[in-house]
Amino acid sequence: MSEPCWEQRWHPFRQQWVIVAAHRQERPWLGERDSAPAPASRLPQHDPACTFCPRNARVLGAINPDYRGVFVFDNDKPCVGAAAPLGLAAPPPGYRSSPARGVARVVSFSERHDLHPARADAFAMDRVLACLQEQYRELSRRDDVAHVLMFENRGEAVGVSNPHPHGQIYATNFVFETIAREREACRERFDATGRSLWEDVVRTELQDGRRVLMENADAISFLPWFARYAYETYVGPKRAVHSVADLDDTERMALAQALHATIVRFDNLWQQPFPYVMALHQAPTDGERCDGFGFHVEFHPPMRKPGLRKFLAGPEIGGGNFLADTAPEQSAIELRAVPAAHYDPS
Ligand SMILES: [Zn+2]
Repeated sequence: MSEPCWEQRWHPFRQQWVIVAAHRQERPWLGERDSAPAPASRLPQHDPACTFCPRNARVLGAINPDYRGVFVFDNDKPCVGAAAPLGLAAPPPGYRSSPARGVARVVSFSERHDLHPARADAFAMDRVLACLQEQYRELSRRDDVAHVLMFENRGEAVGVSNPHPHGQIYATNFVFETIAREREACRERFDATGRSLWEDVVRTELQDGRRVLMENADAISFLPWFARYAYETYVGPKRAVHSVADLDDTERMALAQALHATIVRFDNLWQQPFPYVMALHQAPTDGERCDGFGFHVEFHPPMRKPGLRKFLAGPEIGGGNFLADTAPEQSAIELRAVPAAHYDPS
């Protein structure tokens, strides 16, 4: 049993307290456990029923080309659309509404149904990043786009129904709440000190060192001191830039290596594909001031033990603050202890 520990840690990007109660991880658990998923290598390389695989029909009937490498297509079931009707019914008195306009796309990471970038190499990750750069450059120029959200939901634990490795892009006419708050926090730090909040956090984590998973010349991976999830990890370039599109080729490859090293350790932790929500935090493109903003990638894994999810409950959903059951220092020790090579390579 670990010693009881209660601590509030300030999350500087979200500007909210995280309650760390690290002894809770040991508490008896009689609730639901997810069953362990099958190893990825048992999936076929090509699944005739998969709507993302080459040569197959998608949901609305379009046929995918016989592609190799990264492939981007419009989401067949988008949550936002360029065709969102402008003539909405009036909302009830006192309420507001607006058409949800934008572009929703799917990014298939490769033609292989079974090959997540974790089981491939850093070059595969770099090809994904190069594609995201192109997408960002195109979408951020549009007048009807205020922000480009790029993310990957990985695993059934976060609701993914198609195991074909893929990410998604929502280029929207509004700025997502987390990013809006983060821009505000970065601007405040910049106005007060002339420094970037992201670079401040990177410097602090490097000096402390206990939560750093890896670093190279241009990129870093660490579990932030203020982590909300047990294995929450931030990966980014060491210098503050606004988006993935601002990285040169050397920096992009450095980031690809840091991302790859991170997800390999995730998978190796329990020797199974590690579920997470991964999101690129990029500055909005709505023309407002984004001084001090630092592009980075955040991993939010839902699991706190094998087969045991972190449930969002009273504190998180009812109160709006996270209660962390694990201190990130402990999780970093676990992740650094596993091999750097994937347990199930392609
Ligand atoms: Zn597929």
